[in-house]
Amino acid sequence: DEAQITRQFILEFSDELEEKYTRRLSIITELKKELRENNGELALFYQPKLNLIQNKVLSVEALIRWNNKELGFVSPEDFIAVAEHAGFIGEVTTWVYQQAIRDIISFRDHDIDVMVAINISAQDVMNPELLSMVMALLRVNELPPSVLSFEMTEGHLVKDLGKAVQQLAIMREAGFKIAIDDFGTGYSSLSYLSKLPADILKIDKSFVLKLDQQESDRKIVRTVAKLAHDFNMEIVAEGVENQESLEILRNYGCEYAQGYHICRPIDAAKYIEWHKTFSLPN
Ligand code: C2E
Ligand code: MG
Ligand code: MG
Ligand code: MG
Repeated sequence: DEAQITRQFILEFSDELEEKYTRRLSIITELKKELRENNGELALFYQPKLNLIQNKVLSVEALIRWNNKELGFVSPEDFIAVAEHAGFIGEVTTWVYQQAIRDIISFRDHDIDVMVAINISAQDVMNPELLSMVMALLRVNELPPSVLSFEMTEGHLVKDLGKAVQQLAIMREAGFKIAIDDFGTGYSSLSYLSKLPADILKIDKSFVLKLDQQESDRKIVRTVAKLAHDFNMEIVAEGVENQESLEILRNYGCEYAQGYHICRPIDAAKYIEWHKTFSLPN
């Protein structure tokens, strides 16, 4: 009967919830432990952004990877959100920029001069200490701010836009380039374009993955590229998986393309090899 079906539903539902919360809790415990102990479970991978005008790679994005002995490989899509909600994303970001700066030094030792883009969260933007710590670490290593840039997802900025705008302006004044990540999804607001002090707009991969097949996506990308240029921003398309899409983007005046067609995210040692032997795929 109906009551029994409801009871059954509640039981299954709470099982699912419990599983979800147990996993969340393990992510928090295990990730905090790794950040404290540095057992080598975290890694920073790199994915190049191809400049379509110069046919050169001038910048790469740093993407975190986590392989935990209890949980196995956990996607950043999962653990970054958990760290944000649990309030310790700043510790993740600290690990990321420290590792990025070590890798930048090793890139330079191999005569590879690329700007490394770090993904940051709203909590990071709102934390002025983070900026001063990054600056201090760069200074100690005699590196200019231009070796780093920051990408943030618009959704993260919603809570206090005024404060975010202020902080971003300070970061830009310090010499860092700012990109708005995942443009067109989630909390998208066109008014951000005029309010946010940013240099680069990254159009979300959901509009790019099938660019070669879908006219509707081409309309969106073409229009967003024009919009970005009208606001004096450069445009990066992520999720470029084939040559046809790359050519379409080039025709739209898109400055940068990033995606599996050019290169998957790979570790620093592999990146050094890739960069040295890079040639455009056909
Ligand atoms: P994102 O910053 O928008 O990064 C793009 C994601 O798309 C990456 O997933 C990348 O591996 C993937 N991707 C790149 N090219 C292609 C392609 O051609 N096809 C497809 N299907 N996917 C492609 P990933 O590495 O799993 O990262 C997911 C998200 O997690 C990132 O999205 C970013 O928001 C966040 N994230 C990653 N690393 C960090 C980090 O160090 N700090 C913070 N705060 N967030 C991070
Ligand atoms: Mg990004
Ligand atoms: Mg994205
Ligand atoms: Mg993102």
